[in-house]
Amino acid sequence: MGRRTIVAQRQAVSQRNVPAQIERFRKAVDVARGEIENLVTRLSIELGPEESEILSAQLLILEDEMVWDATLAVIRLERINAEAAFSRAVGDIAARFHEIEEEVFRERVNDLHDVEQRVLRAFQGENSSQIKLPQEPSLIAAANLTPSDTAALGRNNVLGFLMEEGGNTSHVAILARSIGVPAVVGMKGLLSQLDFDQEVAIDGVLGQCILDPDDETFRRFSRLRSQALVANEKLAGLRELEAITPDGHRLKLMANIELPVEVDEALARGAEGVGLLRTEYLFFQHKTIPSEDEQTEVYSDMVRRMGGRSVIFRTLDVGGDKVSDYLGAKREYNPFLGWRGIRFSLANRLLFKTQIKAICRAGLAGPVKIMFPMITGLQELREAKDVFYEAIADLKDSGVAHVSDVDLGIMVETPSAVMVADLLAAECDFFSIGSNDLIQYTLAMDRGNARVSYLYQPLHPAILRAIHTTVEAGHKAGIWVGICGEMGSETRLAEVLLGLGLDEISLHGAALPKVKQVIRWTNFSEAQSMVRHLMELKTSTEANEWLAEYIAKRKKDRLEGEIL
Ligand code: PEP
Ligand code: MG
Repeated sequence: MGRRTIVAQRQAVSQRNVPAQIERFRKAVDVARGEIENLVTRLSIELGPEESEILSAQLLILEDEMVWDATLAVIRLERINAEAAFSRAVGDIAARFHEIEEEVFRERVNDLHDVEQRVLRAFQGENSSQIKLPQEPSLIAAANLTPSDTAALGRNNVLGFLMEEGGNTSHVAILARSIGVPAVVGMKGLLSQLDFDQEVAIDGVLGQCILDPDDETFRRFSRLRSQALVANEKLAGLRELEAITPDGHRLKLMANIELPVEVDEALARGAEGVGLLRTEYLFFQHKTIPSEDEQTEVYSDMVRRMGGRSVIFRTLDVGGDKVSDYLGAKREYNPFLGWRGIRFSLANRLLFKTQIKAICRAGLAGPVKIMFPMITGLQELREAKDVFYEAIADLKDSGVAHVSDVDLGIMVETPSAVMVADLLAAECDFFSIGSNDLIQYTLAMDRGNARVSYLYQPLHPAILRAIHTTVEAGHKAGIWVGICGEMGSETRLAEVLLGLGLDEISLHGAALPKVKQVIRWTNFSEAQSMVRHLMELKTSTEANEWLAEYIAKRKKDRLEGEIL
């Protein structure tokens, strides 16, 4: 189905408004130029440089003096809005080209029309596409934000995020947690109660948000904040210590990272490496698809900064709630069951291969591993590995320095991957359990939908069994098994994950010291018998209640409450 043709509506503007119209024209051209540049990069990666030249001709039209002069003249002389002026100017030029009887000019008319529509679309989207950074420290409240909006906002004057939609494992919430900004999601009806300049107290840990807090509430929140800071200071002493149980069982604690700025924080918290680098966020930070060299540079810098600790690169995981127009991963009717993760990469093999090449080149700066997301069966794993081998062959052929001895692992985050975990374990080097998706798919609950977020139950017997099966299958085949979903960041679950036999937990930096403390306090054998009991319980309610009592008792015995 083609796009609807946009017809620019003509509106008179005042003399005073003329400079603003010229500025709008400049901005719309910038947006259109960015889009065409993206397409050029994309086509040249996918089809080669010649194919992309067709579109380069459109870039020339956007720079063309004739187009600019004519548009500005119409805005100034006829005092009309920028889109109508641009459309008029392009129409006049096209009419002149029509009169010339040469094929090449007729083709240019098509290009002109195409460019005109692109610029008009940019005018239409001028209020919606660009997220504005706050000028002073503020809370960001929205019905819904995309992960790329959240990444763009980052920590720039952002005190916290409040959202009507979303669940605790939606990517917006995860990203906010990772960059250390409190987020409260799933608050239906919030926007209708909020005003600009209103005071709001938020607690990202408990997911609370109180409008117009009274003095007592204000004091309580301030007290919680200072208690958290004191606890963090106490835990800072753990930084150099290993995550080892009193009876000598050793676990690896790694960091989940989305953005390069998080590397220092991960190191400061004592991460032994990066267990999950969500590479798609590096793509979201660009306006165009980063080239192999650009990716190599960013990846190498992060690997170098990790100082010899290993970095697991998860290949591009777009789709689901991580839509990206410029990558072509659009909103879908049923997004989490759609064109996501490895499906997207296998359909964009050149893009995929380019990323793998960049990772293998970055491997010269320190140890790297590659992990494929959303694997549902052996066929996908084999195809992904084929792309890896092609990438290595290409690098060898072109004489580009790289490493080829790279461990290849998968995210176990679909129920089918659990069911065929024995087959997958035989053909990869490690498993990392993506509990966010595993819970979403196993319990059939959309992780971004606030209405069903109550179904997010990590202690549901189906989830405990799925993790158990995966660990068993991995260990039987002699590979290590980690977890990198948000379950790993929940202090109350640390002993459960230990007892389930996971070799590695990858979590967001702020949660790392607490989880390490639990592991250093807990005997492995005790954790194992605790999990055996937990797995006999029949519902998540029973399991949650039983675990809460168990932890309360331990806290009393060991005074853990002071810190945890
Ligand atoms: C997961 O699904 O648990 C995971 C770690 O990946 P993401 O949250 O990025 O989907
Ligand atoms: Mg996932």
